[in-house]
Amino acid sequence: MTFSLLAAGAEHGAGTPAWAMLAYLVAGVFFILALRGLSSPATSRTGNRNGMIGMALAVGTTLVTHDIANIVEILIAVGIGGAIGVVVARRIAMTAMPELVAGFHSLVGLAAVVVGFGAWLDPQSFGIIDAMGQIKPESRIELGLGIAIGAITFSGSVIAFLKLSGRMSGSPIMLPGRHVINLGTLAAIIVLIGLYTVSPAGAAGEGWMVIAVALLAFIIGFLLIIPIGGADMPVVVSMLNSYSGWAAAAMGFTLGNTAMIITGALVGSSGAILSYIMCRAMNRSFISVIAGGFGADAGAAGGAGGAREQRPYKQGSAEDAAYMLEQAESVIIIPGYGMAVAQAQHALREMGDKLKEKGVSVKYAIHPVAGRMPGHMNVLLAEASVPYDEVFELEDINSEFAQADVAFIIGANDVVNPAAKTDKSSPIYGMPVFDVDKAKQVFFIKRSMGGVGYAGVDNDVFYMNQTVMLLADAKKMVEEIVKSLD
Ligand code: NDP
Repeated sequence: MTFSLLAAGAEHGAGTPAWAMLAYLVAGVFFILALRGLSSPATSRTGNRNGMIGMALAVGTTLVTHDIANIVEILIAVGIGGAIGVVVARRIAMTAMPELVAGFHSLVGLAAVVVGFGAWLDPQSFGIIDAMGQIKPESRIELGLGIAIGAITFSGSVIAFLKLSGRMSGSPIMLPGRHVINLGTLAAIIVLIGLYTVSPAGAAGEGWMVIAVALLAFIIGFLLIIPIGGADMPVVVSMLNSYSGWAAAAMGFTLGNTAMIITGALVGSSGAILSYIMCRAMNRSFISVIAGGFGADAGAAGGAGGAREQRPYKQGSAEDAAYMLEQAESVIIIPGYGMAVAQAQHALREMGDKLKEKGVSVKYAIHPVAGRMPGHMNVLLAEASVPYDEVFELEDINSEFAQADVAFIIGANDVVNPAAKTDKSSPIYGMPVFDVDKAKQVFFIKRSMGGVGYAGVDNDVFYMNQTVMLLADAKKMVEEIVKSLD
């Protein structure tokens, strides 16, 4: 069944009718509009809709124009996959979204590997043979690259899934000599693809070259992701997103499907741009991250779970916080992962509304890696109808903490940790953080003094003179503050 499904998509561009090429082009325009829409929470729903229209057009055109081996098999496969997708998407908690995304990327990678092997085993159905009945050299390159990128995406995404879901330690695992091993493995993959491309058709060992490419690529995907941990995981998620796009684009060439090439290239390049932007936001070198923790030192990585000294701190109540908040002229709210866990965004919006009624200026400060996926906080605040013009990015608001009366931290931790600026041994060293220490008063909501942020390190902000710890579930605490503000 698999190969007839795969063959269903096969046909090289030459035979595609003009109207179908036009339909693919229109689908491509919809994908570009989708990306444009997704660049702001205000237009993201329209962006999603455009993406769905583009995908329906691309899939429909492919089904109509290609020599379908068995439409019933295709519809059954789409039905099963679609049903699983709907159930998973409906059940998944917002906080588990990053691992779901990593899991989906692994499937894209695996699909690319399966398509590559399908084309290799049954090249005729894929229309990639020359007059002698052998796989064309250019198709060998596409096939080899597709399998390699797909396998790297698969195993890398599986490791990212395990790390993000807590099934595997999030701390970096540094193998001795890993850069030499990685470079050697990468070189071997390139040499094998080259040999496969130039080897005479049917030559002995040809099959082993394809299998070896897949195996080595599975290994390097694993090796590239295990040394990455702590604050670099967000970059890895968007980087794997990029890889999955390139894997799909490579398979688009093998299948001769223009829409797949366009879509894959869009996903690949937008994922790469997002990774680059996130690296810049976190003061990380892009090359270091994609090369698998290059430059990270093992000592710095071991922050998680370390012993923490007992230090004095001040603890307050919802009433204390409400009193100080209504006296303030300006309040900056910093949401983080804990707000997502507690689902406190609606109560937070209510608190913001009450304060605004009392004449307080309220702004929300979003760190590029707050939460567990890019845009996590923006989505939650938009869901709670927080006005977009009250939401600011790190670089636009950081200078305002010096004039703010209150910095109100709700479930954020790493993104306000000054160790990122001062402690070279910290796993978050170098990442820009909010200057909350410059605000006159700081309220810090978290459940207990024992809990740590994602990077697993203590935070000096807890112990500052102007900090009052509000130790409770974020939603309950904010609801109580709202009551006290009445
Ligand atoms: P952190 O993970 O650093 O901290 C979360 C805080 O929320 C903790 O202090 C925790 O303390 C508290 N918390 C958890 N549950 C609750 C609750 N129900 N009520 C109140 N507080 C709660 O979050 P940040 O957003 O500051 O930082 C994000 C981190 O995640 C960064 O290190 C980033 O690199 C990483 N990351 C980001 C990704 C992204 O794409 N954005 C992806 C993967 C990782 P306590 O347990 O005591 O309540």
